[in-house]
Amino acid sequence: MTELSVTDRYLRLGLRFDRIESGFVDAYFGDPGHRRAVEAEDAPEPARLAAQARELARDVAADAALSPQRREFLAGHVAALECSARKFDGAPIGFVDEVKAYFDVDIAMGDRAEYDVAHARLDELLPGTGPLQPRMQAQRERFAVPAERVPEVVDALAGALRDVVRERYPLPEAETVAFEIEHDKPWSGFNYYVGDYRSRVAVNGDLPQYLSSLPHLIAHEAYPGHHTEHCRKEQLLVRGEQQPEQTVFLVNTPQCLMAEGLADHALGAAIGPAGAAGRRRSTPTSASRSTGNSPSASRRHRRACSACGRTRPCCYTIAARARTTWRRTCSAGA
Ligand SMILES: [Zn+2]
Repeated sequence: MTELSVTDRYLRLGLRFDRIESGFVDAYFGDPGHRRAVEAEDAPEPARLAAQARELARDVAADAALSPQRREFLAGHVAALECSARKFDGAPIGFVDEVKAYFDVDIAMGDRAEYDVAHARLDELLPGTGPLQPRMQAQRERFAVPAERVPEVVDALAGALRDVVRERYPLPEAETVAFEIEHDKPWSGFNYYVGDYRSRVAVNGDLPQYLSSLPHLIAHEAYPGHHTEHCRKEQLLVRGEQQPEQTVFLVNTPQCLMAEGLADHALGAAIGPAGAAGRRRSTPTSASRSTGNSPSASRRHRRACSACGRTRPCCYTIAARARTTWRRTCSAGA
């Protein structure tokens, strides 16, 4: 049997965690043989995974064929997996130590005074008087998007953000995002990266959606958030520099912290912090013009989808390739 490289061992170690907790692997688009091999193994035991992680950490440190940067990346991620394995095994690990092991950061309590300043500013800005929470909620409600118009708004926002991102950060021609509405989920939106520069982004159809937050949601999940990060890494690191360790995304690891941080700053990075506020009111209309993916086109998509038997707009696709991808998705019955 051919001896596995440390990167192959890392991929298989990460994939084993998905058998302990489904969803631990956020995305995997590498060699499918690793997934098959892991599925064929006996059920993984957390204590054994912890031991495998410790052994792998030693071998990573000794692997002179890897660049220092790749060794550092693998070391940080293997340390996170070792902690996850011990946690699954029932080891008592303090919260601060757990966060340090998972994300390679030191955390401390925030300064209460900074929150007080933010609350005072909100008190100035929000209409009315009294406790902030109901006033904030009332303000949000002003920007509520009727459920039947959410697809149209998502379509327009994604098209506009994609144009902005493409201007600054070259994306592969083939990249696409297919948006869907999902139900009974604990999140407001979720990116499923499937490889070959394709993402499926689900928007929660059970939660109210607001014009004040949808731009952040779309930027976070697609442009220039998770989808963009995945595409750039697949293009530059996986295909360009042959770094297979970048084909797996694992929760509770440093890459997870970085991805969420990047995605949370995505809207501001795309259009600037001041622009983000202004765009919240104007993006749907201007976005539609800029991409040619107009609200009326979106309505046509939804009619077509109903025509093929769907009871609600189950899926729709954005940006320059919207129509071709939409048709493909529809005819496939996905
Ligand atoms: Zn995220």
